[in-house]
Amino acid sequence: MGVFFSINQFHQNQSQAETALKSRFDTIFQQVTLVISDKVNSYDQMLRATQGLFQASYYVSRNEFKVFADKLQLETIYPGLLGLGYSQLVLPEARVEHEAMIRKQGFPDYKIYPEGEREIYSSIIYLEPFKERNLRAFGYDMASNSVRSEAMWRARDTLTTAMSGGVKLVQDLPGESVTGLLMYLPTFKNVGLLNDSVSASKREHTGWVYVVFRIEDIIRATLAHFPSLTRLQINDISPLNGDVLFDTGDFDDHWQLTETSVLAGRQWQFSAQPDMAFRAQYLTNWPIIRLVLELLFTVALMAISWLLINGKLRAEKLANNMTAQLREQNQRLSLATETAKMGIWDWDFETDRMWLDGNLAKLMGLQRTRSHQILFQDWCALFDEQDRARLEQEIDYVINNRVDLNIELLFQLDAYNSRMIQLNAVMRFNHSGQPTGMVGVSFDITDRWFYQSRLEQTEARWKFALEGSGEGVWDWTLTDDSVIYSERLVTMLGYSPDDFTPHFSEWADRIHPDDLPQVQKDLTALFDGSQPAYRNEHRIKCRDGSWKWILAKGIVIERDEHGEPLRAVGTNSDISWRKDTELALRQSEERFRNAFDTAAIGMALVSIEGRWLEVNPALCDMLGYTEAELMALTFMDITHPEDLDLDQHFVRKLLDKELDHYHIEKRYFCRGGEIIDVLLSVSVVHDEQGGVLHFVSQVEDITTRKQEEAHIRKMAFYDALTGLPNRRLYEEHFGMAIQQARRNKQVLALMFVDIDYFKSINDNYGHDAGDLIIQVVAEKMSNTLRASDTLARLGGDEFVVVLHEVSSPDAALHVAQNLVASVSEPIELEDGTAVQVTLSIGVTAGIPTVDDAMTHYLKQADMALYDVKAAGRNGASLYQASGA
Ligand code: GH3
Ligand code: MG
Repeated sequence: MGVFFSINQFHQNQSQAETALKSRFDTIFQQVTLVISDKVNSYDQMLRATQGLFQASYYVSRNEFKVFADKLQLETIYPGLLGLGYSQLVLPEARVEHEAMIRKQGFPDYKIYPEGEREIYSSIIYLEPFKERNLRAFGYDMASNSVRSEAMWRARDTLTTAMSGGVKLVQDLPGESVTGLLMYLPTFKNVGLLNDSVSASKREHTGWVYVVFRIEDIIRATLAHFPSLTRLQINDISPLNGDVLFDTGDFDDHWQLTETSVLAGRQWQFSAQPDMAFRAQYLTNWPIIRLVLELLFTVALMAISWLLINGKLRAEKLANNMTAQLREQNQRLSLATETAKMGIWDWDFETDRMWLDGNLAKLMGLQRTRSHQILFQDWCALFDEQDRARLEQEIDYVINNRVDLNIELLFQLDAYNSRMIQLNAVMRFNHSGQPTGMVGVSFDITDRWFYQSRLEQTEARWKFALEGSGEGVWDWTLTDDSVIYSERLVTMLGYSPDDFTPHFSEWADRIHPDDLPQVQKDLTALFDGSQPAYRNEHRIKCRDGSWKWILAKGIVIERDEHGEPLRAVGTNSDISWRKDTELALRQSEERFRNAFDTAAIGMALVSIEGRWLEVNPALCDMLGYTEAELMALTFMDITHPEDLDLDQHFVRKLLDKELDHYHIEKRYFCRGGEIIDVLLSVSVVHDEQGGVLHFVSQVEDITTRKQEEAHIRKMAFYDALTGLPNRRLYEEHFGMAIQQARRNKQVLALMFVDIDYFKSINDNYGHDAGDLIIQVVAEKMSNTLRASDTLARLGGDEFVVVLHEVSSPDAALHVAQNLVASVSEPIELEDGTAVQVTLSIGVTAGIPTVDDAMTHYLKQADMALYDVKAAGRNGASLYQASGA
């Protein structure tokens, strides 16, 4: 029964060791997958920043791209990355022009390759660092390759970073076969001013920013920090283009760990297996120790029992048998002990002597092959002072408490060699229960000890590696809430390492109050296991009081048997520059949006076909349309037909790049049909090739100004009292009338009209009455004349009449007589007084023939008027040309 118990125990112990192994190996495996995923994510971040560059500019030149890439410090911060590039989308009809343009930039041999007709081309036009093998990718049409194009179009459709399956890179030399991977993010035609979220999917797709790397490079660089992980396989298990991406080989039938993560849209399955060395550290020692000790102890117990029950003789006989059994057992054991580098020892309290078997003797440098006896005190003296004290203390404790011994001791073999020895022992008791000795085993655990200290070094190394990439590292022991902050993490914020005590509060107290709740939420999710990893962006207060944006990432690397977290590690990186770029972009968009929406003048973005792309509220108000109604129309629909030609004339000039903006006054129809005058300013937004993307129109309602202008014009050319044309306008008209009559050989008549004795009207009835009479006389004469005749007031009580196209001078005289008759009725003043006025009119008429006809007409009409006045007034007289 005792033996059965022991074997059973062995299996239990073995599975415990297996669990410990798995847990330790799992920790390393998790770290490896995290580091690899982090690298891929850092590429994603870099792509987003690059996309931001394209989004924030109308055109990104080769040099701008280079400067940007230089700023990212690709080669130092992203080791393993082959390049960061931009691939432009080229339609077949634009291909020739595109190639010509790039050639003009100083690359006479440039062409898109591979050759052949395709529906669409994409061409690598920028790739940094632009040197060596990367030059070979210049002009390569990635969309011509199905594995790449799958990722490219997935990025385009999802608007997120997409990674390709494994490919052979164009950078590779013939014969090289290393799996390359690419990650893409689409770029869109910069519409600059448009709201990003509204139009992202509607905007014209222009190409992709992308990164390229060899999987081998980043995995090997990662594994260099984890020397205990030597068996790793990465499979892309996505439905399309899945492939083995990386494989160290050497896997056997032993268990392996697998982990799947989705990286830039592709499913990667990581598999790892502990190698022989790793397994040995955990599986050989402890279970065998237990087995050996239990067996020895069981045999001893049986012997004692027999002694008690059956008397000495039989007991001795049996004991001999036992000894034989024991010898047999010993033989079996020595085989096991040999392989496990195990030694056996037995310490008898009575004699205080220790028996060491050959293995242990050899290990301690006492004997080469045979067992050895030594006084316990002498044996203890072999260890150094510190370990000896520890051993004696431990033995006291074991004896007093009757427990098993388990201690590790350092032993100096010679000047160059140390050994780490593990001692395990159980007590021997006599029949009255007194301890009589101790029997134990020893192991040489030098290798494991060495390996463990190396593990610690390794851990320090990966922290160092992370620090080197610009990230701060933290290591948080949750049981006592102590945190080790790396130097980089502290200096990143302007502090010195002395400013940070090893507590989480040092960090937590500096988190921006608005961000703290989310940090707490995310950490809780990490600790309770609902999230496999912690990831949070928050602001942290620097020493100088400013705020920095931090991206914090972490995982739990150790949990207790209840799943409670014991230790978490992670990194903090400064992402302020990315946040700043995001913020600047958002602010500039917001600023435009605000300006656009709240502008007092009408604003619109108009496509080159004349469609409204966006209209602002002020424009809608001005025209009386709702936004939806206006969007359904084109600018041609609402433009006054007479102004359309002028407008389109300028639009053509913009499209032909003869102008980059214009201002015109034009008329728009409002919704209700009324016409408004506007001042239209149109400018052009160019795309990266310099083509016209769309127009930005600013529309100012100038109807009131136009009315005022008309009013001022009227004041300049019309008489304020009567509303008749004034002298200036009449002179203009009369000049033209002369030209026309002369051309057409028509009779033109001019009359001077003067009210008789007007001075005395003013004197008798007052100036205002005089004004009224001037107005009434003007009206009466105007009613007598035809619309084609011109009546103007020259000033005072003088008027002038021009008759165009009159049949003869007599007919003109007849019109003058009608005018004289038109005022025959007395004019009633405001107070009811009736005032009789009379007119004197001098008339001249004829076909103008000479050059200074105007002077002649004026002179003749004046002379005719003088005749009427002289003849007693109230009448009309025709100038008679006596020989003239
Ligand atoms: P005659 O029959 O010879 O034309 O005599 P008259 O009194 O009409 O003399 P004349 O034509 O030379 O005088 C015109 C007068 O009209 C002079 C001035 O006092 C007056 N007058 C000039 N402009 C205005 C005006 O705007 N309003 C008024 N009420 N009177 C004016
Ligand atoms: Mg007069």
